[in-house]
Amino acid sequence: MSKKLDSSVLRDGTKVVVSGRDPKRFGGMVNPPVYHVSTVLAETYDQLKSRDQEEESGIQKMTYGRRGTPTSWALENAVAELEGGYRSLTFPSGLSAVTGALLAFLKAGDHLLMTDSVYGPTRRFCNTILKRFGVETTYYDPLIGAQIGSLLRSNTTVVYTESPGSHTFEVQDIPAISKIVHTHGAKIMMDNTWASPLFFKPFEHGVDVSIQAATKYIVGYSDVMLGTVTSTKEAWPELRDCIGDMGQCAGPDDLYLAQRSFRSMAVRLRQHQENALFIAKWLQTRTEVQQVLYPALPEDPGHEIWKRDFLGASGLFAFELQPFSEKAIVAMLDGMRLFGMGYSWGGFESLLIPENVRNIRTAVPWRFEGPLLRIHIGLEDVEDLKDDLSDGLDRLRSLYG
Ligand SMILES: *Cc1c(COP(=O)(O)O)cnc(C)c1O
Repeated sequence: MSKKLDSSVLRDGTKVVVSGRDPKRFGGMVNPPVYHVSTVLAETYDQLKSRDQEEESGIQKMTYGRRGTPTSWALENAVAELEGGYRSLTFPSGLSAVTGALLAFLKAGDHLLMTDSVYGPTRRFCNTILKRFGVETTYYDPLIGAQIGSLLRSNTTVVYTESPGSHTFEVQDIPAISKIVHTHGAKIMMDNTWASPLFFKPFEHGVDVSIQAATKYIVGYSDVMLGTVTSTKEAWPELRDCIGDMGQCAGPDDLYLAQRSFRSMAVRLRQHQENALFIAKWLQTRTEVQQVLYPALPEDPGHEIWKRDFLGASGLFAFELQPFSEKAIVAMLDGMRLFGMGYSWGGFESLLIPENVRNIRTAVPWRFEGPLLRIHIGLEDVEDLKDDLSDGLDRLRSLYG
């Protein structure tokens, strides 16, 4: 921002407020204006040429709507700063950020190592489109750690991580994996959506390319689809060129809403964490619950690594029920008053859905006996959330057997 503020010395709570904003540039306005633009006119032939050259050399200069605008840079620069990477790009959804990142660093004949706990649609992309383009995917145990070395082949160019994993919340040993992967000369990618740019700093732990489904906590209001990819300086040219060649860009109003929400992310995340921890601990006391899968709990198998590497826990986790029938689960879910049943998460509202990933895992045997429910804890009063869940678990038990 203004007056030579050295943002590198600032704490995250301040960084989310100041990074990516430059009021001086826009007549003092606190927020960046929304640029609706395709064509950007040059005054002279020389200006046309020089701005293209500047943009090509990496300077954020407007040449054409798709190539970036002050509206996209406001968000991209803020995300890059908070994640601790060099630069970021924005995408029209989280999934397009995932697929864009993969396509930027893979080619026909390459081998991809993919965590078995990955977000379902990412897995599908590997099994369909990447396969069609001649990239072979091997799924690995998310808890493999340094043993990843035994799976690396001469043509392995990307190792993809997601920690904790979507659905079952395994915490991966990112520093151990990245060390081995770099010795091999490959790149390590991470889907960092669960932690948001606040609770895990991918680049401090060796990640080369970090992905955010901004739809979740960056947007935070369940009303915008958006994704970001952030990389190291070394990986940046390859990423920027590929995404530019593919023509990926996000719409100005969505970008604006996301950078607006970004400013309250630290406050929101703090409350998501407090509420989620309260509900997770309370669920542990209920006899209908077999186990709670939330790395912030001391009993969670991923707790030690989470404590070592993460700065906090978000509002998304899962719990395994005793082996109740589907009919009992339907009675629980259909009667919820506050918890909505729907995909996505990261908004201000609480959600509860059944997990149906048992049959898609291939690297490690399914380790749960009872049904799994995935829960997102929003910003409501936790006592109300507890009452709703308590009644739901009572309905479940009343239909037992
Ligand atoms: C939701 C999600 C995505 C995809 O984001 P969309 O914006 O829904 O396309 C990717 N990764 C993870 C971990 C997610 O939860």
